[in-house]
Amino acid sequence: MHYVEPVFRPPSEANSLLLPVTAGCSHNRCTFCGMYLTKKYRLMDMDGIFEDIEEARSTHRFKRAFLLDGDALAAPLPFLTRVLDRIRERLPWVERVGVYGDSGAILDKGVDGLGRLRKRGLGIVYHGIESGSDEVLRRVKKPVTRQQMADTGRIMKESGVTYSVMALLGLGGTELTEDHAQGTGEALSILDPDYIGLLTLMLVPGTALARKAEKGLFKLPDAMGMLRELRTILAGIDVTNARFSANHASNYLPVKGDLPRDKERLLAMIDHVLATGDDSCLKPEWMRAL
Ligand code: SF4
Repeated sequence: MHYVEPVFRPPSEANSLLLPVTAGCSHNRCTFCGMYLTKKYRLMDMDGIFEDIEEARSTHRFKRAFLLDGDALAAPLPFLTRVLDRIRERLPWVERVGVYGDSGAILDKGVDGLGRLRKRGLGIVYHGIESGSDEVLRRVKKPVTRQQMADTGRIMKESGVTYSVMALLGLGGTELTEDHAQGTGEALSILDPDYIGLLTLMLVPGTALARKAEKGLFKLPDAMGMLRELRTILAGIDVTNARFSANHASNYLPVKGDLPRDKERLLAMIDHVLATGDDSCLKPEWMRAL
């Protein structure tokens, strides 16, 4: 396979064929993200992609495939349709293809473009919104307007492609913790996705945000502060039907359920820990990971 290391994928794609169709991230400016700092964004060579598909055909009957890298949905529509057509032709046992995509790529493809990709096998788009606070998004250099957010949610719904959205606890630091949590709950309600994943920010050495923290200009909330953010976000979520997961390795308290059905139960669980201040049920720092 023509991998350009390091390779990242969503946790739920652990057993998928990871197919390199792009390298890096076309944005690559978010101050907290170190995933693609060593890569320059580019489309992979189509002959190489076809070779990788042949290699996958000869090794394992993957049920799922994930198109690398950080925002492969930003690749041109004809390029993506060629890749998906080839997967369908040579790997007919693949039932779902996934991809990372942000608001820019979703708005660019539109209902029509995403619908065409869905007909060719695209089954899920993973979108890291990270925050719903305008100020936090501006500071971390991932700005998106409320109107863009509303259009993004509408396009995803109308396209029929499953939509998974991730946000990051702690991204506003202690200074913007309330604004971040409230804005994120609101944004998730606007987007109304099928899956919601909350991860907890861990500072990555070499990123602009880590440097800011070293200078004392950014401070992460502590474990209870992260839990308060989780509570505020969850309380603010008003969605049609979504699987809610805050049980990633980075999170202090694993929380998972279906919304809106389990909302009160999950809130009560968080409230119990906040009220007692009992941190024995929180994941110790050494067990957390990205
Ligand atoms: S967070 Fe996403 S959009 Fe931002 S640099 Fe990282 S991969 Fe790119």
